[in-house]
Amino acid sequence: MSHKVLIIGAGGVGRVVVFKCAQHPEVFSEILLASLTKSKCDVIATDAMKATGHTKISTAKVDADNVPELVQLIRSFKPALVLHVALPYQDLTIMDACLETGTPYLDTANYEPKDVAKFEYSWQWAYQDRFKAAGIPAVLGCGFDPGVTNIFTAHAAKHHFDEIHYLDIVDANAGSHGKAFATNFNPEINIREITQKGRYYENGKWVENEPHEIGKMINYPDIGPRKSYLIFHEELESLVKNYPTIKRARFWMTFGDEYLTHLRVIQNIGMARIDPVKYKGVDVIPLEFLKYVLPDPGELGENYTGYTSIGCRIKGIKDGKEKTYYIWNNCSHEAAYKETGTQGVSYTTGVPAMLGAKMMLDGHWGGAGVFNVEQLNPDPFLKELGPSGLPWHEAEGVDLEMD
Ligand code: NDP
Repeated sequence: MSHKVLIIGAGGVGRVVVFKCAQHPEVFSEILLASLTKSKCDVIATDAMKATGHTKISTAKVDADNVPELVQLIRSFKPALVLHVALPYQDLTIMDACLETGTPYLDTANYEPKDVAKFEYSWQWAYQDRFKAAGIPAVLGCGFDPGVTNIFTAHAAKHHFDEIHYLDIVDANAGSHGKAFATNFNPEINIREITQKGRYYENGKWVENEPHEIGKMINYPDIGPRKSYLIFHEELESLVKNYPTIKRARFWMTFGDEYLTHLRVIQNIGMARIDPVKYKGVDVIPLEFLKYVLPDPGELGENYTGYTSIGCRIKGIKDGKEKTYYIWNNCSHEAAYKETGTQGVSYTTGVPAMLGAKMMLDGHWGGAGVFNVEQLNPDPFLKELGPSGLPWHEAEGVDLEMD
C-alpha cells in the first residue's frame, strides 16, 4: 500500500531521507518536505525527483517549534507518518502535533532542551500513556546510533545470546573531508554532545569521567586500529533498560588529535557556550553562531574519502558458554555522495530513518505507545538494511582487541 509521508528538516539527513523514500514510490507515494527555510526543501525535492523519477515531492515552510503551525500542516496534508529529521529541540512539539492529529511519529535523536546540554529519554518516555491512549506509535532514535546499533543489539539478543553481559558500541569515522575542522552533522548538536562528560554503565550504576579522559585503540574491520574515546551516547540509556542482563555498556567514538585540539580551543575561548552574550546590543549564543562559520556538514560530501565503521561488540552467554560477537556496517563516504549528494554520516542516519518509516507503513512495526527501536522486530529491518545501502556483517570470536 502506498502512503503520504511528511518529512521535517532539510539538512544533510533530510536530504538522504527524501532520496531514499523517493526510491520507494510503492510505499511513499507522496512526500512533503517541510523545514524552516523552504528554498532548502526546494533544492532537495528537485534533486531527488531528478535522481529517482519520483513525481510527487512537494515542499512547505514550517516552524517546528510551533505546535499550531505543525497541526495545520499535518491536517492539510494528512500524512500516514511524520518523519522528524530537524533538530532534537523539536521532538516534543512534533510529538504534540502528532498526538493532536493522530499521526504516527519517528525521529533519530532524543529531546534536548535548548538551554541545557543534556540529552536523555525521560521527556519522550513521559509521552508513553498519551501515545497509548491515542492508539498510535512514536518510534524513537531510528538513525544509525541510536538506531541501527539498537537493532544490532536486538538481533544479537534474539538470535545469538541467551544473556548479553557486555556491550561496547564502537563508532569510527575513518573518512577525510580535507577541512581543518568540521563536524559531520549539525555542529551545534554535535559539539554539545561530545563536549559533555563521558559516562558508561556498570553493575547497575552510571560511572562518569571527564570528556575524552578514557581512550583506547580499537581495531575496526577493514579499517584498522583507531584511537577511540569513551563518550556517553543516548542509546546506552534505553539498551540497559531493555536488556537488564547487561553488566557493562560503553560507547566509543574515534576523534583525531587535530579534531580534539580544535575542540579544546573552541571550548577554551568560550565558543562552545550555550548561554547568551551581548554583542552590539544583541543576544548571541556563541555555539549557535559558530555553526554559521563552520563548514556545512551537508556540503562536506564532494571531497570526502574513506569509510565510517560502526558496530556492536557483545559478550555474553549462549547455551551455557561464554561468547564474543561483533556486528557492524562500513559505509563509504564517496558512494553515499554519489547516490545522494551528501556524506556518509548523513547517509548512515537517513537510510535507517527511511527504513524505520517503511517498517511502520508496511505493518512490520506498529503498536500504540512510545518505542525505542530495540523493542521492535529486528528481522524485517535487517533483511532490508543491506539492499537499502547499508550492508552489515557479523562474526563470532572477534574482540576488536578491546579488553
Ligand atoms: P542539519 O542542521 O543539517 O539540518 C537540520 C534541519 O532542521 C535544517 O534544515 C533546519 O532548517 C531544520 N530546522 C531547524 N530548526 C527548525 C525548526 N524550528 N522548524 C523546522 N525546521 C527546523 O542537521 P542534520 O541533517 O545533520 O541532522 C538532523 C537530525 O539528525 C538531528 O536531530 C541530528 O541530531 C540527527 N542525527 C542523528 C544521528 C543518528 O545516528 N541517530 C546521526 C546524525 C544526526 P534551517 O537550515 O533552515 O535552519
